[in-house]
Amino acid sequence: MQASAQTDQSTAFDLLAWYDRHARRLPWRSPPGTPPPAAYRVWLSEVMLQQTTVAAVQPYFARFVARWPDVAALAQADEADVMAAWAGLGYYSRARNLIACARAVATLGGFPDTEAGLRALPGLGAYTAAAVAAIAFGARAVVVDANVERVVARLFAITAPLPGSRPAIRACADTITPDARAGDFAQAMMDLGATVCTARNPRCIICPLRGRCRAYADGIAASLPVKAAKKAKPHRIGHAWWIERDGKVWLVRRAGKGMLGGMRALPDDGWNARSDGDGVPPFAGAWRVAGVVRHGFTHFDLDLQLMLCDHAEMGQSLPGEGAGEFWPIDAIELAGLPTVFAKAARIAVAGL
Ligand code: SF4
Repeated sequence: MQASAQTDQSTAFDLLAWYDRHARRLPWRSPPGTPPPAAYRVWLSEVMLQQTTVAAVQPYFARFVARWPDVAALAQADEADVMAAWAGLGYYSRARNLIACARAVATLGGFPDTEAGLRALPGLGAYTAAAVAAIAFGARAVVVDANVERVVARLFAITAPLPGSRPAIRACADTITPDARAGDFAQAMMDLGATVCTARNPRCIICPLRGRCRAYADGIAASLPVKAAKKAKPHRIGHAWWIERDGKVWLVRRAGKGMLGGMRALPDDGWNARSDGDGVPPFAGAWRVAGVVRHGFTHFDLDLQLMLCDHAEMGQSLPGEGAGEFWPIDAIELAGLPTVFAKAARIAVAGL
């Protein structure tokens, strides 16, 4: 257990009283005052919730726990099945890390119950380790996600911009984290950020912490946290190739490492965050543009031109041969394509 640096139990007391009445009911949660959820459910939900909304995660979480009800089941899953089940959630390195972590936990015989032990698992970052330690094992851990960051920046009127202010925010969060009910406290902070201390128009009037909030007292709540100006994202152009034969389309398996690694996909011309695709078709033919997909990745925006070949020569070699397959077009939604290629496939199917 991490040593407590706390000086203020009363903030936690007020917040927990509010949480006991207003906790969000979520499928990976246990209601306040009941035994904590299994570490597997906490871990899985926290990994899914990174950069992703609660509404988007809920159906994925339900499908995952129905198919792989515990970490041992997930550890034995076929990697391609997990990647396909993850399709559409984005940030696919999370799915690869999920499998690696599940296998490490299965080897250990269960999740470690300390923040340090959890942090040592593959792909499990500081935030997730703190959240699982606090919520599943009741350990005192300082859990700071984007919602908590906002609440703390306001409570303490931290006006220095993110991300540079993160250490100060974490230190302040530490001072109000209680020794008891650490998991409920972490979830209460998340809930307050999600439902009351919202990014736009914080509802200070109904906030249980209003009386101790310095940003509210100073009239600057809505302006916090301050964020450093973002660099403009680069704009890339690429092509994806729709190669059809007898009601089936050619799909490849992307290389295991790198962007969308391990995912089933349409063949493309090698675009990535640093450069456009080369625009060179995989074989000679009468290629035409079927449509353009606009897609925003974390570090760049992509215009993906979907190219169809009207008169493909027979016997041509296929891109990624040996790591590809013809997939029935009428079952394309079952291929587990990442969102950018699923959008492209919808354009192709609509034009058939
Ligand atoms: Fe957030 Fe307002 Fe509550 Fe302060 S008083 S914590 S700004 S909702």
